[in-house]
Amino acid sequence: MQIRDFRQGGIFFARLDHGADIISQITNLAEKNRIETAALCAIGALSRAELGYYDQLSHEYGRISLEEPVELASCTGNISMRDGRPFVHAHAVLSDRTGRTWGGHLTSGIIFAAEVYLQELTGLPLKRVPDSITGLKLWGEE
Ligand code: ZN
Repeated sequence: MQIRDFRQGGIFFARLDHGADIISQITNLAEKNRIETAALCAIGALSRAELGYYDQLSHEYGRISLEEPVELASCTGNISMRDGRPFVHAHAVLSDRTGRTWGGHLTSGIIFAAEVYLQELTGLPLKRVPDSITGLKLWGEE
């Protein structure tokens, strides 16, 4: 286990832009405010979205495309540095008009309306580095 401690930085509430991609908007929010490490939550609605499912054997992401309006019932994640840029890692639960849900790694989503809560964490920035066991870029030392 690797543990790092941080101090609270800025607290941001953001209403994201209709028609924009949610991951890009949160990335822009981080870049404009020079946020390197943060915890985030979001709720709202997406006009379409794509979730990923990481196959632990093949080390590849499968894609779940939702080409219909869905509620962003829950979205939680974090921001850390990857390849010198803030990287948004978010997981989401999306629901349709019947309440049926999909969940997974949120790779993209076109915003109908979305509200984000972002808690900046200050200290040495968390960085993602390649991890040979999982095939993912995980928090670690360069
Ligand atoms: Zn993920």
